[in-house]
Amino acid sequence: MDAMYKAVRGTQDVLPADSGKWQYMEQTALSVAQDFGYREIRTPVFEQTALFQRSVGETTDVVQKEMYTFLDKGERSITLRPEGTAGAARAALEHGLLAGALPVKASYVTSCYRYEKPQAGRLREFHQFGVECFAAAAPQADAEIITLAATILESLGVTGVQLHINSIGCPECRAQYHAVLKEYFTAHKESLCGTCLDRLERNPMRILDCKSPECAAVAAGAPVMLDYLCDDCAAHFEEVKACLTDAGLSFELDPHIVRGLDYYTRTVFEFISDALGAQSTVCGGGRYDGLIEELGGAHVPSLGFGMGLERLLMVMEAKGVSFPETPVCEVYFASMGEAAARRCFTLTTKLRQGGVAAECDTVGRSLKAQMKYADKIGARYTLVVGDDELASGTARLKDMATGETEDVTLDDGLYSVLYNKSLDRQLAGMTDLLGEELGGLDGLSGLSL
Ligand code: ATP
Ligand code: MG
Repeated sequence: MDAMYKAVRGTQDVLPADSGKWQYMEQTALSVAQDFGYREIRTPVFEQTALFQRSVGETTDVVQKEMYTFLDKGERSITLRPEGTAGAARAALEHGLLAGALPVKASYVTSCYRYEKPQAGRLREFHQFGVECFAAAAPQADAEIITLAATILESLGVTGVQLHINSIGCPECRAQYHAVLKEYFTAHKESLCGTCLDRLERNPMRILDCKSPECAAVAAGAPVMLDYLCDDCAAHFEEVKACLTDAGLSFELDPHIVRGLDYYTRTVFEFISDALGAQSTVCGGGRYDGLIEELGGAHVPSLGFGMGLERLLMVMEAKGVSFPETPVCEVYFASMGEAAARRCFTLTTKLRQGGVAAECDTVGRSLKAQMKYADKIGARYTLVVGDDELASGTARLKDMATGETEDVTLDDGLYSVLYNKSLDRQLAGMTDLLGEELGGLDGLSGLSL
């Protein structure tokens, strides 16, 4: 039967069978970020529309045509967040974080909303892991967040991702570049798409990012920002590159990375995957030295990045990355009769209180159907309890994988038996892992700091 309601176009469900992958991505990212000094920030899913207009920028695709904007019942213009930086910056200002210990380092996992044409890797509701570092001007900060993104990708076992970096300068040196660029594109006007003709007036740099083949061909011969950087911006960028090299990160200089949002200055970067086709950018970010001022604060040089989690998951799956095993039911209590059902419920509750994943029948099914269910959910052990077992206080614990059985008592003894079994299993898993690691560490003597 067809479902009466379907998820709205451009949105996706994460079903119980897949949520472990999401938890793994999110927890890995948050915990690596924590090692870099970041703490989680949570901001509302909607904000005043003006916040995004101001911070993302009026001339951007996001503000021009992608925002989910509506009037609430109090006639206020509200927008579902299209990205995470604006909310984090607003919160940092509103709560005086910028008057405390600096830099302020915040990380987040958020849903974002953009009215785009849905396709593989491009959704209307998508998710980002992101970080923001407020009040850090030194090039080491740029190198630090880039290293953080690279470390997350590495921790997740992602391969085939290339780091592209560029500097788009500061408002001073960019003004000169804009003029040169505008002159160049005006001379090639007849080859540009309609959108880019519009961009020519408003923001010629964005033409460098256009996906149309004709515009890309013109853009390939365009002057590059790197040749127009002022001395300060050039020196800053040199130092960022030197830090990245010291950190052992390889990168490609890519003058066509300009980023989609208006608030960027100086360093911009993207991590681009060879496994994603057109939607190939897994992570994008950079410096936004003017944003806090734009929002009414002081001059607070800052930077951050956003990592698209749907795209990250696509890369991980395409690359055959292994995910942690999904936790399974440790023991399933199958019961016969009312008294046994009640006893099984009590035992299940006790085991759960001790941290053991236990289940019992909650449907009122026959013994046969209960065993079938235990098999379907992949329970490691089963225990059948009927009148005889109630009378003797013992039952037979069956290992579902090997078929081996052993008699156990239906009291605290059961808890120690199961607990010891799970310890044995963890130990065996660790020994396996250690064997693999040691085998792969033939270059150990070459390690140096
Ligand atoms: P793109 O050029 O792919 O449109 P963008 O420059 O608009 O990306 P950002 O605003 O920098 O993207 O967002 C950071 C990351 O979020 C992107 O690199 C991408 O991984 C992800 N992302 C952006 N838009 C979408 C979307 N509509 N659906 C899924 N992921 C997205
Ligand atoms: Mg976009």
